This record gives sequence, C-alpha cells and structure tokens, in this order.
Amino acid sequence: MPTGYVNDEVYQKHDTRDHVEGKDRLTAINAVLEKTKVKEQLVLIPPRPASIDEIAAVHDREYISSLKAEIDSGGGWLDPDTYASPGSWDAALYAAGGLMNAVDAVMKKDVDNAFALVRPPGHHAVRSHQMGFCLFNNVAVAAKYALGNYDIKRVLIIDFDVHHGNGTQEAFYSDSQVLYFSTHEYPWYPFTGAAEETGQKAGEGYNVNVPLEADLGDKEYLQAFNEILVPVARRFEPELMLISAGYDAHWQDSISNMNVSTLGFARMARIIKAISDEFCSNKLVYTLEGGYHRQALAFSVTATFDMLMGNSEVFDPLGAPPMAYSPHDFDDFIKKIRSIHKLKD
Ligand SMILES: [Zn+2]
Repeated sequence: MPTGYVNDEVYQKHDTRDHVEGKDRLTAINAVLEKTKVKEQLVLIPPRPASIDEIAAVHDREYISSLKAEIDSGGGWLDPDTYASPGSWDAALYAAGGLMNAVDAVMKKDVDNAFALVRPPGHHAVRSHQMGFCLFNNVAVAAKYALGNYDIKRVLIIDFDVHHGNGTQEAFYSDSQVLYFSTHEYPWYPFTGAAEETGQKAGEGYNVNVPLEADLGDKEYLQAFNEILVPVARRFEPELMLISAGYDAHWQDSISNMNVSTLGFARMARIIKAISDEFCSNKLVYTLEGGYHRQALAFSVTATFDMLMGNSEVFDPLGAPPMAYSPHDFDDFIKKIRSIHKLKD
C-alpha cells in the first residue's frame, strides 16, 4: 500500500508575513517532493475542518471563541511569538482536521502510513491559550479523536521537534492512554520538559522526557531512540503512533543549537517505522511541527517520506555538520533517564 500525505492550499491562508513560521515552508517542501519524484509515489489525503467539539476535547471553549473573535477582527500578534491572519482560523481547523483524516486513512488501511503537511503547527498550544506559533494542538486533538472513534486504548506520541511539546505533555499528563515521548534541547524554549516530569495520577510514568544539552547530533539522538524510545514502546505496546515531526534540530536551523543532519532524521524515521511495524501493525501518522531552515526542512521531510515508503536512499545535499560534539558522559545521561523510567531491556 502507498504512503499518504495531507497537502492543501488552505494551509497557506495562515499568512504570517515575515514570521519565521511562514508560508514558504510548505512551498519549499513541495518543491523538493516534486523534484525528487517522491510526490508522485504518494496518495493525497484531502483535509477537512475540525469541528469545535473535536477541538474542545483539548482546548477550553472560552479560548476557542476568543481566538475566533481575535482572528475575525483581523488577527495580528496574539502574543510575542504567535501571529494570526484573517485566514488563520480556517487553516487551524483544517490543520487539526487534516491530521484526523490522515488518522482515518491509516486506521482504515486506505494507506500504509501518512504524513500531514499542515500549518500552523500545534505542540506548544495549551488548553487555555495559543503559544509558540501554535493555535490548536493538532496532535493532541488527533490522539483524542483516535481514542474516541476507534477501538484502541494506547496511543504513542513521539515528538522530536527541538522544542519540548509543553501543550501535548499538559493535555495527557494524567492520562495512561497516551504516552508522550519527547527529545528536545534543554534548557530551551518553552523551558518545560525536565526528565523528572513523568506524569501524574493515572498518567504517572506515561510522560517520557529526554532533555538534551545543546550541540548534540545524530549519534546522541539515535542512541536516545534506541536505548530509551524503543524499550518504552515495547513496554507500552502502542496501537497507534502519532509523530510530532519538527525538523528544527537540524544543524542548519538557527532556531536551536542542535546538530542533527537530514540523514540523522532519516535514521530516526527508520527506527520509528520499525517500532510501528513491530508493535502496532504499522499504524503510523506524522504531523508537521517546526523546522525553519527551508532547505533543511524540505530535504528532511522528503527523507522521512522515503523511510515511510521503505526506500533506502536518502537525498541529503546539506550533509553532516562541520563539527560534531559528543559529550563523554552521554552514556550516564541515558542511564539516568532509563533509571527514572525503570527500563530494563
Ligand atoms: Zn520547534
């Protein structure tokens, strides 16, 4: 079966002008998907708008209506980081709805797996307000939707955006049905995501943060995936995997200090696919979060599609970072996280 993708002009209605999270991110991705002929191998999944009830599974209704009112009156800066234009309301509803359609396509096995190329991104949006370029928490809305509409009880969210997904963590902090796993630069925006934040009440142990010091690259990310994510997934046995895919840990991306390469993102995608093959009959859906260096983003998304389709070749014109920093005590860090989560295998 083919790999599906959500891709639609509606996402360009979120016109943030010269904001770093701009419309040209999707333009750049589409250009490389076309040039590499990856696009012609994919099946298009049309998006739909999320309903207010679906959004309200994650966000306060007061926030939803005040956001609508702000956008209806012309938008502008909602906070020092987050911008909305008159078209942002539609784009935001279709971002969450596009991801839900991708979940449907994967759950019904219309496609093998899928990637929703949506904006605005979502993982910083919290219950009561927008935050960090995000209006609605798309991945959280989709996880709630999947749990409510399919006979499944365990959703694994993997978030490799360079920033901690504080909104997603908040949405499921007391919930054992959604396991949130995040690798992120730390301390860094939004300054949440410490290793000791492990969940509470029924959700205790279902929140796995891997807070990484600055400058790390492929080697450390892959070690964290192999030695923390894989055993966490083996214990959790997910029935659906949702991936908050941000590519701002790329060494070319100036929003962070990390040194991941396009090839590194491809290797992470390969591990994620192997987990989904082994534990949840390949029910795997990606959604776009950050990634601000246009070329790095476009090449890395394309490499992810190659891995989703089972291709082995990766197009990586940017190559490896000029300097690779590997801390001598990284094994101890991994051991510490494994011990917090009592991982034995
Ligand atoms: Zn980010």
